[in-house]
Parts: sequence; structure tokens; C-alpha cells
Amino acid sequence: MDEFYVCRQCIKVEKVINYLERWQSRDNKEICSICGKNLGINICNNDELLQDIVDAIRFHYSYNQYGMQLISLKRVVGAGLFAPMFLVEENEIFRNKLDSNTAYEFMVVLLKKTDLGDVSIFTSSENNGVQSIYKLFLDSHATKPLKNAESLVINNIKNDLNSKNYYEIEEKYVLFFREILDFLPKVNIYNKVFYRAREGGNKEQILLGEVEKEISFPYIDKEVLAPPPCLASAGRFNREGCSFLYVASKETTAIAEIKSYVGQICTVAEILCKDESVYLDFREETLKKEENRCEIIKLNIMYSFKNLFSIPVQERKDYHITQFIADIFRKIGIGGIIYDSVQTDGYNVMSFNSSRYECVKGSEKMVLLKKVTYETEELRDERKNYIGCKFKKEEANRKYELKQESNVNANYDFDIFEFLEMTKPFHTPIQDEET
Ligand SMILES: [Zn+2]
Repeated sequence: MDEFYVCRQCIKVEKVINYLERWQSRDNKEICSICGKNLGINICNNDELLQDIVDAIRFHYSYNQYGMQLISLKRVVGAGLFAPMFLVEENEIFRNKLDSNTAYEFMVVLLKKTDLGDVSIFTSSENNGVQSIYKLFLDSHATKPLKNAESLVINNIKNDLNSKNYYEIEEKYVLFFREILDFLPKVNIYNKVFYRAREGGNKEQILLGEVEKEISFPYIDKEVLAPPPCLASAGRFNREGCSFLYVASKETTAIAEIKSYVGQICTVAEILCKDESVYLDFREETLKKEENRCEIIKLNIMYSFKNLFSIPVQERKDYHITQFIADIFRKIGIGGIIYDSVQTDGYNVMSFNSSRYECVKGSEKMVLLKKVTYETEELRDERKNYIGCKFKKEEANRKYELKQESNVNANYDFDIFEFLEMTKPFHTPIQDEET
């Protein structure tokens, strides 16, 4: 019988903690394989729990990270040098780093008991009909964890829009989006107050007896709302000549979204939502809550929508995809889309029903933008991933180093067929499907 003991203090995966809490109250406790305390539960007989761990691995790590490690693990098992690197380092699965032997044993259990070594859950770009959306899209997952990887749905849309007019494929995606609508997170925002900003304000002459004087004051009422369709320029979700309303959760978010510069005067106003339609909610905060109850492939679909809606748009052509998706949501009766702001904290609401929003009377005001703050994130020096390799240009080899920092050896490209060959002894196919 397989044995691998884990206690609730050692694991980070929320779903699994819940299971363990239930079991741990009983008496059958053993030495935890990770921390050595007397609170361990043998997890080998709970396939569902093991699958939850695999899902968490796929959510946080790319296929190259966990798959590649399995090959190296198999190859040099005698040498005992290699173990799944992501588990030996700080990781998202366990609270502590595992030693190589424990990490190895753990992966062997997963390979035997879960779909970790199953290739049929993947599809690649050559065979990705719409029917197979409930599969993992290997081309993207190979290098990205599922929380960042593109789903097959988005990939299909991109491919279709490369070769066809949007109206030729609309019908197909209307049917298809109806199917996935069930599990997309929805929210009602009727009677909620948001903010909208617009550059500038009004200037009018007033008469002081005989003297004229120009005064400034905010844009008023409808002047703050969405522009009329004839004046609307294309945006993330709307085509040119099509006017959707964009509002934000905070005043500062609304101002940041119009990308004002320091010294700019803007009008800001409160906007009341009188739309009773259902909105799709792709905020990070909302999706985090879904992580515990949603299947991994559906989670990947949600996150890939979220990622698509929140990347800063570099090229105009990127709008085509979001505009197309928005159109399909509109056609199936959705009121709009809620997504995190790329510019600052807070979120945005894009509504198809701009006429169902009102400017709160008297809330209009003018503000001067005094300061814009920036936030940065340090990026990994990728030389560390390729220690021992050489630059293509001789000059680069003279200027920069690719030297060994530790004995960490990571991120080679690999071949899925090789992966399967190497891991074959671990997973016996249920039946031979060759006919
Ligand atoms: Zn433990």
C-alpha cells in the first residue's frame, strides 16, 4: 500500500486543508512525511484530494516546470540528485521546502493516482475544435501556469479572427458562450454608485454688469456620461461609433483610466447604476473565491478572460479580440463586464446599457491632477535559468556572464512524448484506444 503522510500545517492548498481538518480530528494520525510531527494523514487513498493537489500544481506552475522535473527525476533517480525543483524550493503547495527524496516520493504517488501523466487532457493548437474546450491548451500551459495561460477558448477566437470577419463566426460563439456562461462569475450592481472622469470642464462667459468674465466649472450631468455613438472612438470593448459606458469604483481609478497627466484638470462625478442586468465579474478578488469550488479547466477559462481584459493594450489589433468577446456577451444578454484597473487599484465597469446610468445631481466637480505615483516589480534575471549555456553572440559572451549561482538547474525545453515515455512505468493506461 502506498503511504505518504501530510498534516494540515504542512500544506498550502486550501481545498486540501479542509479535507485534512476533517480527518485530523480522528485518531488515526501518523508521522507527517514532511514536518515529522505526529499529525500526518495518509493521503494516498484519497484520489480526489490528490487530484486537487495536481490541479493546484497546474494552476501555479507551467507544464515545463512540473513535467520537465518528472523526466529528470526518472532519468537520474539512482544518482538521487534531481527531484521536482518546484517542491524543493519555496513553493505554492507546501509551507516548507521538501527534501529531494520526499519530493520524489510525493510525485511518484501523484503519477500513480492522478491524471498528472495523462496526455489526453491536453490539446494543442493543431486539433483544437470548439468541442474540446474542456481540455488544457498545451501550447500555452507548456510555459505558463494555468492562472496565466491562455485558454483554448481565447486561442480559438484569436485564430478565427485571423482568417474570418467577426460576423462570420458570431453565431458559433454565441452558442458556445451560452454554454460557458453557467460558471462565469456574475454580479448585480443595480443602485450602486460609481465614478466617471472626463478631461477638462466647461468654460463660459458671464456678465458682471457691463464686464464679461470667463469662468470654469465642471461638465454637468449628461456631459459626464458616455459620448453619443457618433462621437465614440474605439475602446477596449467598443468598436468605433459604438458607445459603451465606462465607470470606475473610485474617483482616483476613474481619473487614472483616462490617463491624465500632472497639471491636467478633469471633471469627476458620481454615476448611479440603474441597470438590472447581470454583469460578468472578472476581478482578481472574485476569481480567488472561485478557486476553492471551481474545476481547474473552468478556472483557467475565467482567468484567461481576466488576463485578456486587464493587460495594457499595446496594439490596436488587440482590441479586436476584446471587442468581439464583448459583443458576444452583449448578444447573450449580459449587461457589461467588471474588471480590475490596469492603471491603479480599484476596478472598472463597462456597460452596454449606458442609458441606464444617471449622473448624481450636484456630484460633478473639477479636480487638478497633482501627482501620479508609480509602482514597480523586480523581474527575474533570466540568465539564472540558463546557467552553463552560451550566448549566440560572441560579444555578449565577453560582456555578460551565465555563471553558476547554485546547483539549480531549470527550465529546459522538453518534448511531451519524451515525457510520456519516461514516465510510462508510473501510469498504466486503463485501456488501449488504438483501433
Ligand atoms: Zn506536517
